[in-house]
Formats: sequence, structure tokens, C-alpha cells
Amino acid sequence: MLERYDRQIAVIGEEAQNKILNAKILVVGAGALGTSILNSLVRAGVGFIRVVDMDVVELSNLQRQMLFDEKDLGEKKVIAATNKLKLINSEVNLEPIVDRITADTIGKYALGCDIIIDATDNFSTREIINKYAIENNIPWIYGGVAAAFGMAKTIIPKETACLKCFMKKRTNEEYTARNSGIMNGITAVIGAIEANMAIRYIIGKPSTKLIYIDLFEDDFQTIEVKRDINCTVCGGEKVD
Ligand SMILES: [Zn+2]
Repeated sequence: MLERYDRQIAVIGEEAQNKILNAKILVVGAGALGTSILNSLVRAGVGFIRVVDMDVVELSNLQRQMLFDEKDLGEKKVIAATNKLKLINSEVNLEPIVDRITADTIGKYALGCDIIIDATDNFSTREIINKYAIENNIPWIYGGVAAAFGMAKTIIPKETACLKCFMKKRTNEEYTARNSGIMNGITAVIGAIEANMAIRYIIGKPSTKLIYIDLFEDDFQTIEVKRDINCTVCGGEKVD
């Protein structure tokens, strides 16, 4: 039964593997980051994964969205992704949801989940996730990519900096795959890092730093980010 996870258990041990098998995760987005994240989580044996996305698979997605192929064109991403994921690991309980995460819907989709993983491409959704996660004391993994760079951070309410602590302002001119382009190396890497961060949180060894990578500059950084006691989302108490 556990033979499938033999090499992973050699690193983390059987007790940690059982935590993964019992974990419940919400993945927001089934695009480039989402398919990389889901690929890792399903192979690692996460017990339950709910994935929320509205979009359909388009030809320009195939360059980087690793769970899709040409016969998926026109299919809802969450459906095409879960069909592929079931072939990879039929033991994982997958729940595809065709919908959008808003301030009104996040509560029902995050219900019962141990952790939320951001695989979106926009800051408005990330701000909704951040606020909900802080208010409801649910950890989440932030991840963002554009062109050939990207970053990821584990956010644990009242323990680590939240998104607002280290992103004071955002412009309306966001980097997205549509307006800045995107290389498939960075989505694969940041997605894998986000999945690894979620696994680390689940097994009790959470990542503490912001990870920043630029694959066209050979730039790999780990950055300490502190909580902001004046943060409008998580602040209001003395820290450190
Ligand atoms: Zn904050």
C-alpha cells in the first residue's frame, strides 16, 4: 500500500507520510502553477484535493500547463486535470470545482481544508485568499510567476508575515502570462516549490523564507520577511 511512496518515506518517514495521506488541500487555479502543484501533490499522496478554476484549456496553455494535451482543448481545466490525475494516483480523492474564488465563495471551498495553495494569476484573488486565511487561521502558500521569474512563501496566520506585510502596494499593471509572457521552466519550478511548501507544513516542518528565482538571471534568493505590526490584514499586535 505504501510501496508507491517508498522513496518519499525514505526521506520523511512513515508518520509524516500518514499525515500527507490524511491532508486536505484547496488549490486555487488549474493553470501553469496549478497543474505543476497538482502533479506534485497527487504523486506525493495528499488524501483530498479540491481544485477550483473556471477556465477551459486553450492551445496557448499547452506550452506550460503540464497536465493537458491536445485532446483536452476546449475542456474545463479542472475536469481535464482531474481526469489525468486519477490515472497518476487513483488513491487521491479529487474534487474539481468549476467556479471562481471570490470573497463570497472562498468560505465554502476552503471549508475543512488544512491549507490553501495559491495558483492564481492575479492579486485581487490573492488578497481575498490572504484576508480569509488570516481571519480563519488557515495557512496558505503564495506563489507568483511572470516571464522567467517567480516567488513563493508559506504564510501562517499570526506567525509569519502575511501577503500584505510584504506587498505594501500593487499596481494595476500586474504581471500576468497574458501581458508579460511566461517561460515553462519557472512555472514548473515555482509550482513544485509551492507543493513542497505545503507538504512541509503538513508534516510539521514549514518553510520560513520567501523564495525568489529568476531563471534568466541565474538569481536564486531566500529572503527573510518580517511581520508588519501595522499591517491592515494581520497586524495590530506586537511581534518579535
Ligand atoms: Zn500582514
